[in-house]
Amino acid sequence: MTSTSGIPQDLVERLGHASNIIVFTGAGVSAESGVPTFRGQDGLWQKYDAEDLATWQAFERDPQLVWSWYDQRRQMISEVDPNPGHAAIARMAAVFDKVTVITQNVDGLHLRAGSKDIVELHGSIWRARCTRELTVYDFHECPLEENPPLCKECGALLRPDVVWYGEPLPMDAYERSHEAACTCDAMLVVGTSAQVRPAATLPLVAKHNGAFVVEVNTHYTPISALIDATLIGMAGEILPELLDRVDESMGHSEEAPGTTGGVKERSGV
Ligand SMILES: [Zn+2]
Repeated sequence: MTSTSGIPQDLVERLGHASNIIVFTGAGVSAESGVPTFRGQDGLWQKYDAEDLATWQAFERDPQLVWSWYDQRRQMISEVDPNPGHAAIARMAAVFDKVTVITQNVDGLHLRAGSKDIVELHGSIWRARCTRELTVYDFHECPLEENPPLCKECGALLRPDVVWYGEPLPMDAYERSHEAACTCDAMLVVGTSAQVRPAATLPLVAKHNGAFVVEVNTHYTPISALIDATLIGMAGEILPELLDRVDESMGHSEEAPGTTGGVKERSGV
């Protein structure tokens, strides 16, 4: 029960009493896997801002250019792995009765790490949507065989099934998130500055409805003062230890009665 990370024991025990939890994640979790943020540091795309590429206007103007950008991002994402933070989040399903992962990331790393109940608030780079019929397809072709890719059913342009600047969040994903935030016992807010509405409000909705809300981030954020606790550090370092200690506080990792060393030795003599 010793801690080297500064995770307070009362926080661990409070989480240990939760059965229905939300893990709400953002770009910080992906960054620990090495997913680039695509903001100007990459040679080929240096002259573009994400705002010039991730919009419907940009796609209408030049779908091939926009798909080239996504093609390169997909290739880079396919080369990175989920990190210990993703793995710890996936393991939570074995510790709590109900775990909902709500993510603002589009890279699919929670799914690859093994999380099951995932709400992708901003869509997924691994899906495409027909611009005519609006049908959504799993779309893993990487690199693209044709650019821009076309719908196999109707021949119209496919677009990435992600939320672009100026577009609303998908209604079903937002409603699921909001409902989950209203009914959870605890929420972990991981690697997100929680500054973009309406996603920024989910931790406050949870808090308002009585949930215990803990933030894990490399820095304090605008919501830090409004929630129960902030743990400063890398998700990949804090979450595995936090989960182990919560599991221990719930008694899951205690040895079964009668199997402790001393008793067994005596009975064997
Ligand atoms: Zn179609």
